[in-house]
Amino acid sequence: MDKNVRIAIIGGGPAGLSAGMYLEQAGYENYTIYERNGWVGGKCHSPEYKGRRYELGAIMGVPSYYAVHDVEEFCGITHDGPRLNRNYKDLKGNVVDPFDPKKHPLSAPRLLRMKSQIKKFGELLQTKYKGYDINGHRGVAQGRYDGYAVTPGREKIEGVNENLKDLALPFKDFCEKNGVELVQDVWIGPFTSFGYGYFDEIPAAYVLKYLDFQTTMNFVKVNLWTWKDGTQSIWEHLNDAIKHPALLNSDITKVERKDGKVFITVNGKVEEFDKLIVTAPLQYFGDYADIREDEKRYFDKIDYERYDVQGFLTEDDKAPEISYYIMENMVPERLGHLMVYYHRWPDLGADQMYVTYALRKHRDLKEIDYEESKKMVLADLETMGNPAKEVIEERSWYYFPHVFTEDYAAGWYDDVEAMQDKYDTFYAGEIMSFGDMDETVEYSRELVERFFK
Ligand SMILES: Cc1cc2nc3c(=O)[nH]c(=O)nc-3n(C[C@H](O)[C@H](O)[C@H](O)COP(=O)(O)OP(=O)(O)OC[C@H]3O[C@@H](n4cnc5c(N)ncnc54)[C@H](O)[C@@H]3O)c2cc1C
Repeated sequence: MDKNVRIAIIGGGPAGLSAGMYLEQAGYENYTIYERNGWVGGKCHSPEYKGRRYELGAIMGVPSYYAVHDVEEFCGITHDGPRLNRNYKDLKGNVVDPFDPKKHPLSAPRLLRMKSQIKKFGELLQTKYKGYDINGHRGVAQGRYDGYAVTPGREKIEGVNENLKDLALPFKDFCEKNGVELVQDVWIGPFTSFGYGYFDEIPAAYVLKYLDFQTTMNFVKVNLWTWKDGTQSIWEHLNDAIKHPALLNSDITKVERKDGKVFITVNGKVEEFDKLIVTAPLQYFGDYADIREDEKRYFDKIDYERYDVQGFLTEDDKAPEISYYIMENMVPERLGHLMVYYHRWPDLGADQMYVTYALRKHRDLKEIDYEESKKMVLADLETMGNPAKEVIEERSWYYFPHVFTEDYAAGWYDDVEAMQDKYDTFYAGEIMSFGDMDETVEYSRELVERFFK
């Protein structure tokens, strides 16, 4: 492609900003990033309270976040945040350890079986499901893999593997099919409580592309990255480091694609481009763009999670000393309840903001109303012995866009990938890979590599 091509990027989150970075590195400097908010970072959102930054959105990374590491290197920053640690509570608020057989003599045989299934699962993923973990979903429904391995060198690999079609199954069915149903006890922590839905509804492909074997083991060992000034600061640094920082407060009211050009009406003025990269939710693309029949047909199939967070303060003698997970609330029957509450600064007592996490949607159940879930979460905090005296931040996120098994298996991803550049438009961001920082950034890297040579 001509290096002077004029490229518009919609969205100043990890996907959009990193697309700018990778384009620049590939010699394409004629790009413009439009961000609707007055700040960058999207769902990496780290507001300040009493001089420290807290996480209302993304919290952590793992050592296999190679694409986020690209960004850190580009900006000259590193993951310098507080060490994460956690404990578990049961529904009565007692501290428990679901993975310690000494504390749960009755569950010891189950834990032993779980351990051996994890080992078997690791082997299956490397052999039967070779190629399962590469970024994005191209070819999976057809039993192929084509992309970059999750290794420091990110080697390009491609091949045929019919077994990959199983990845369209809900993760629960996928585990049962392979005789490793107990691994769900481990995978559920960084999946359901992180807002990504339930294993009986979400295709295994999403679960395993995010929680590939090495990433899951990093979660198990609490081998995690955080950032002192919050995950948002990664993207603020990136925005400062790229040649064309995002244009904030951009209100896009129209996108028109005709005669090989892209016309964008932003804050009332029409701007002309040659190519468009959309990292904003595709589900809403038709609200402002001349969406085509095929785009609409596919984008209408996207669903997303309702993931709510509340930043709360508590009394000195009621402050949690660590983050807590409540495993029994990570099932559809407990929709709307508190799954995790996060304690960020070990050196501060109650003089900090804690954050709660709840999910209130399952594909087969009635969605729980935001306020109703909030009440449930606050009541749960009381039961846990850490009541909120005041909620000072709250947010309901448009979270983890995805498609379900039937559309995944029917080739949604191959069809949408085949539409890349059809209307001088490229699709990136969470839906094209997965809703975490690294998958979205890695997808932007590969998009640039594939189409902007
Ligand atoms: C509570 C929570 C916890 C999370 N925890 C983690 C974690 O620990 N680790 C991890 O890796 N990830 C985590 N994530 C997920 C991670 O934040 C996202 O996957 C990542 O930010 C996605 O990047 P993106 O650029 O694709 O989308 P987003 O971050 O959503 O950014 C999209 C941007 O586009 C902008 N936009 C939308 N529409 C328009 C428009 N019409 N015009 C202009 N701009 C527009 C938005 O304002 C936004 O800035 C978490 C997210 C949340 C909410």
